Amino acid sequence: MAKIIMRTPLVEMDGDEMTRIVWKWIKDILIEPYVELKTEYYDLGLESREKTKDQITIDSAEATKKYGVAVKCATITPNAARVKEYNLTEMWKSPNGTIRAILDGTVFREPILVKGISPFVRTWKKPISIARHAYGDVYKNTEMKIEGPGKAELVFTDENGIETRKTIHDFTDPGIIMGMHNTEKSIESFARACFNYALDKKQDLWFATKDTISKTYDHSFKDIFQDIFDAEYKEKFDETGIEYFYTLIDDAVARVVRSEGGFIWACKNYDGDVMSDMVASAFGSLAMMTSVLVSPEGYYEYEAAHGTVQRHYYQHLEGKETSTNSVATIFAWTGALRKRGQLDEIPELEHFADMLEKACLKTIEEGIMTKDLVALSQLENKKVVNAKEFLYAIQDRLNTIMGQKE
Ligand code: NAP
Ligand code: MG
Repeated sequence: MAKIIMRTPLVEMDGDEMTRIVWKWIKDILIEPYVELKTEYYDLGLESREKTKDQITIDSAEATKKYGVAVKCATITPNAARVKEYNLTEMWKSPNGTIRAILDGTVFREPILVKGISPFVRTWKKPISIARHAYGDVYKNTEMKIEGPGKAELVFTDENGIETRKTIHDFTDPGIIMGMHNTEKSIESFARACFNYALDKKQDLWFATKDTISKTYDHSFKDIFQDIFDAEYKEKFDETGIEYFYTLIDDAVARVVRSEGGFIWACKNYDGDVMSDMVASAFGSLAMMTSVLVSPEGYYEYEAAHGTVQRHYYQHLEGKETSTNSVATIFAWTGALRKRGQLDEIPELEHFADMLEKACLKTIEEGIMTKDLVALSQLENKKVVNAKEFLYAIQDRLNTIMGQKE
């Protein structure tokens, strides 16, 4: 069978540690035998970021703006220990943060469901995607400890020096205060990213805040979403047969648990932080969670939700085999290839992405899986394999599905 030809390159962002090893194997075993792979390669491995003074990360984000679709391997976010380990001249910022700032995107996370691994919530039949606003609120706050009696005020000074004041609290005893912010621009681009993603996935969009209590702050989120929806998206949603649904955050949590899934849940920054961990754990495993950054202009960057699996890498360096789960990273590749196929109108490429995903699920559903899934799977006969055996097991099924088996 002839290899599938691509038109536009994918922006390929290589990464670190065990995921870097698995990255290469995925390309060798599951992609390049089938696709004449076209990528523009950016090495975001920590050594290359150090060598380029992190310019490579910026370049890769700019390339994503140029081509529209990127696929990213997990990368180390340096801390003090990593500065020592890699002899860094600087504690380089999180590549994901840098890329997000340049693309101005929203992160969507979605669990991969397989038969034999059921969600802890009985009613969940379809995946729930979390869309997390990635700017502001408590993550960019200013806090203060109040040592004794006094008056705490919120003061805004405009460009002309005119002050607006509001009393936060007249303290009679020690206490604490906090100030936080968001911008209309950031909330608007969050809203558009969510509406576009819902149209893309043909799934309902839910959004919730605490606007009854926070009558200005949270209410602004509610109003901005509604205004943009009415002005720009209502018709498209009607045509697609999907809904935008707003409710209070506590009501949303109750409804999510009773739902059967199959929708996108847009969350304010803190809600998204907490709820994505809840949803990921309830569905099973971080190694079965995909993640895509979508910009309001429609640029896409696909990755796995997990990190570089450092512990496995050190075992790998000692020459030991590891049972690293590659599913989320494979799905990052299939997400990117499918999107490229859609944009360039290459149906074979879209089909290949579908088939590769199907082969991954079939492998696990037939009882061949990595160590992390064994404890979760309710199958009777399970076989634990190492990372490479797992990829070959997927290849075997991919060949069968594509009718290529000799
Ligand atoms: P991690 O790489 O997600 O791994 C934590 C543990 O979860 C692993 O030790 C492993 O458990 C299990 N695990 C995660 N992914 C797995 C997979 N694909 N297959 C099998 N088991 C898996 O998190 P971390 O060890 O805290 O972080 C390592 C590095 O990743 C850090 O330097 C961090 O900065 C970076 N990171 C990057 C991203 C990103 O680029 N998006 C995200 C998060 C973290 P066992 O060891 O018990 O098998
Ligand atoms: Mg968290």
